[in-house]
Amino acid sequence: MGTSVSGERKEQLAKALEQVEARVRKACEAAGRAREEVRLLAVTKTFPASDAALLTDLGLTDLAENRDQEAGAKAAEVARLRPEAGIRWHMVGRLQRNKARSVVRWADEVQSVDSVRLAAALDKAVLAEGRPKLDVLVQASIDGDPARGGCPLPELGELAAYIARTGGLRLRGVMAVAPLGADPAPAFEKLALAAEKLRRDHPGATELSAGMSGDLEQAIAHGSTCVRVGTALLGGRGLASIASGSPGSAR
Ligand SMILES: *Cc1c(COP(=O)(O)O)cnc(C)c1O
Repeated sequence: MGTSVSGERKEQLAKALEQVEARVRKACEAAGRAREEVRLLAVTKTFPASDAALLTDLGLTDLAENRDQEAGAKAAEVARLRPEAGIRWHMVGRLQRNKARSVVRWADEVQSVDSVRLAAALDKAVLAEGRPKLDVLVQASIDGDPARGGCPLPELGELAAYIARTGGLRLRGVMAVAPLGADPAPAFEKLALAAEKLRRDHPGATELSAGMSGDLEQAIAHGSTCVRVGTALLGGRGLASIASGSPGSAR
C-alpha cells in the first residue's frame, strides 16, 4: 500500500473516529455519566492489520475480533507493524472449546464466555500456556435465542460463580448483543439488571459491554461501560461478514 493511500485511509478513519467519539460523548452527557466510564472498542474483524495499526496511531488501543483464526494472524501482524502500541485484544465472537488454547495466545480479554464448559477450557488453556490471568466477561443471552450465543439469564449466576473459582480467569463483567430487529432499549434494561446482580455477588465484575454502531446511545443510557464499534469506525463489511455469521452481520 502506497503512502498516499494509507494517508487517505488514516484520514478516513480519523474522521469516523471523531464522529463516533462525538456520539459517545453526547450519550454520556445525556446520561449524566463521565466519558471515562465508557471504553471504546474498535471491532476490526474483516479489516486488514494495516487498519488496526492506523487506529492505534489515532489513539485507540482496545481492539476486538470475533474469529480466532483471523484474529491470531492479525494480532501478530499488528504487533510487527506497531511493536510499541500497547494494544489490548478482545475476543467478542462465538468460541468453540477446541479454540481455547489458540485464543489465549493472542487475547487479553474474552467477552464471549457463555458456558461452564468453555470457561473450563479457557482456564485450562491459560494454565497450560503459563500466561497471566485472562480477563473474561460472561455473555448473556437477553432474548433467549440460542442461535446467537450467550448464556440464558437464569444460568448467569452459576457461570459467574464457576469463573470466580478458577485460577486462570478473572471475572470482569457481562456482555451482550441486542436482539436483531427489535427496539434495543428493553433488552439493555434487562441486561443492566443482570449486570447489577452480578456486581453484588462479584464486586470486581464492573464491566457491562453493550452497544454497537447502531445502538451505542441506548446502551450508554443503560449503563454500558464498553461499546464495541465496527461499521461506524471502519465502514461496511459487505458479504464477508454475512458468510462468517457474525452477530453484527445483519445490521
Ligand atoms: C461485529 C461485532 C460488533 C460490531 O458491530 P458493528 O455493528 O459493526 O458496530 C460488536 N459486537 C460483536 C460481538 C460483533 O461480532
